[in-house]
Amino acid sequence: MKTSHVRFAKLSTTRRNFLKTAVVFCPLGFRSAALAAEPLQPIVIRGHHLFDMLDALGTGKSSHKTLGPVAQKIRANPKVPIKVVVGVDDICAPCEWWDRAKGICTRNLKTYPQDNENSMTSDKNAIRVLGMKPGDTMSAADLYRLIKSKVTKKVFAEEVCVACRLVNKCKETYEARIEAAVKALAEPHS
Ligand code: SF4
Repeated sequence: MKTSHVRFAKLSTTRRNFLKTAVVFCPLGFRSAALAAEPLQPIVIRGHHLFDMLDALGTGKSSHKTLGPVAQKIRANPKVPIKVVVGVDDICAPCEWWDRAKGICTRNLKTYPQDNENSMTSDKNAIRVLGMKPGDTMSAADLYRLIKSKVTKKVFAEEVCVACRLVNKCKETYEARIEAAVKALAEPHS
C-alpha cells in the first residue's frame, strides 16, 4: 500500500473513532438521539392476560403484584411492543403462584383443576380472534384498538373467554373496561 493510502486509512480510522465517541458523549444531544433510536424491548403477554389487564390499564390501579407493574409500564409508554404468547409471560414468570418446573399456575389448582387448561384455551382463542399468531408483536396502543374493534361483548363471551368459569361475571363489564383501556393508552401516563 502506498504511504499516502496508509496515512489516509489511519486518518479515516481516527475520524471514525472520533465520530463514535462524539455520538456517545457529545453534549449537543447526539447521545440522546442515538438512545432514542434504540427499539423498545417487547413485553410478553399471554392471550388471556390481555383481558385480565383491562382494569389496570384503564384505572392505573391493581392489587396484583406482577400484573400491576406490567400494566403501569404499558400505561407509561403505550408505544411499547407487546408480544402475544400462549402460556408463561412477563406476568406469570415472576408470580408467586407460578410453578416453573411444571409450567402451571398453582393458585386455584386444588379447587379448580381445569383452570390451567382453560387459561391456555383462552390464550389461544384471544390470539386467534385478533387475527394474530403466537409470537406476533404489536404496539400496546394499536393492540388494544384492535381488541376493541374485533372483540365485542358477544365475541368476548362466546369465543375468547368461553372456557373460563368467570366469563358470565366479566362479560357484563367488558365494554366499559375496554373503552377505558383504549382511552388510557391514547397518551402516556406516568
Ligand atoms: S401464575 Fe397464575 S395467578 Fe400468577 S399471574 Fe399467572 S395465571 Fe395469574
